[in-house]
Amino acid sequence: MQAQIIDGKILSAQVKAEAAAETAALKEKGVTPCLAVILVGEDPASQVYVRGKAKDCHDCGIDSRVIRLPEETTQAELLKLVGELAADKAVNGILVQLPLPAQIDEKAVIDAIPPEKDVDGFSPVNVGRMQIGEPCFLPCTPAGCIRMIESTGTPIEGKRAVVIGRSNIVGKPAALLLLAKNATVTICHSRTANLKELCSSADILVAAVGKAGFVTGDMIKPGAVVIDVGINRGEDGKLHGDVDFAAACEKASYITPVPGGVGLMTRAMLMKNTVQAAARQNGL
Ligand code: NDP
Repeated sequence: MQAQIIDGKILSAQVKAEAAAETAALKEKGVTPCLAVILVGEDPASQVYVRGKAKDCHDCGIDSRVIRLPEETTQAELLKLVGELAADKAVNGILVQLPLPAQIDEKAVIDAIPPEKDVDGFSPVNVGRMQIGEPCFLPCTPAGCIRMIESTGTPIEGKRAVVIGRSNIVGKPAALLLLAKNATVTICHSRTANLKELCSSADILVAAVGKAGFVTGDMIKPGAVVIDVGINRGEDGKLHGDVDFAAACEKASYITPVPGGVGLMTRAMLMKNTVQAAARQNGL
């Protein structure tokens, strides 16, 4: 079997086009969505991500405000800024680029973003709402994964899904969203026994480990849909996924590439959340 590629470029362009159309409709009603992105410090990867988010906003017709703060910013200063943005009616979404410098408590900052402006979907209120199936902002990476699986036409319902990774931003919410789509879900992590056996039983395999080439060909069930969330910088300076792509292509029915896969969808889903935030805040 030679897997078909789930092309993040094509799919994310579709999602962004949807966000652009929704933005245009909001603008006709006098509402221009606006995303505020806060970047603290000089982390090179974070700078790239923030530039990408500003470009995506521009592409979709969404206003963006990028606020750059120095590395030595205190927690109190950052919380004050988040508070100001929370009170600013022109700002619909607030995103604080992670990681933050060591002197700042990430949780305290995320908690300070009001749930209705938490377009990353990381605040406890949004996480709780997702868990009980109430309207909320879905975290962008897992939501992008679901959209990629659905794009294959493979029904999720009734399938056996295995998620490797249990972080709050990827693994756990990916598992919850698959469960909400009626998959039978197993979450694996660093203490999981018989990982290989579990993975090779999966119709849908989501890898969010953070280790290049972690998922080998023998861990993949023939015909599985493989979603590779991992972004790992190799010694060759290139980006690699968590999945041994060449080997997986021989076994899977569909697979996402790295780069050009989940990362692009994460960016696109943020645009959708921002538009949704603007609509909700204006009762539209
Ligand atoms: P974390 O480091 O927070 O979580 C990694 C998870 O993998 C943990 O749950 C850990 O288990 C598990 N794990 C580690 N080693 C093993 C092992 N040997 N066997 C089984 N499980 C293992 O990472 P994130 O969830 O934040 O990110 C995962 C990957 O996804 C990274 O490469 C990251 O860069 C990428 N990423 C990509 C995004 C995108 O847009 N494409 C967005 C966010 C992340 P345990 O809990 O037991 O420690």
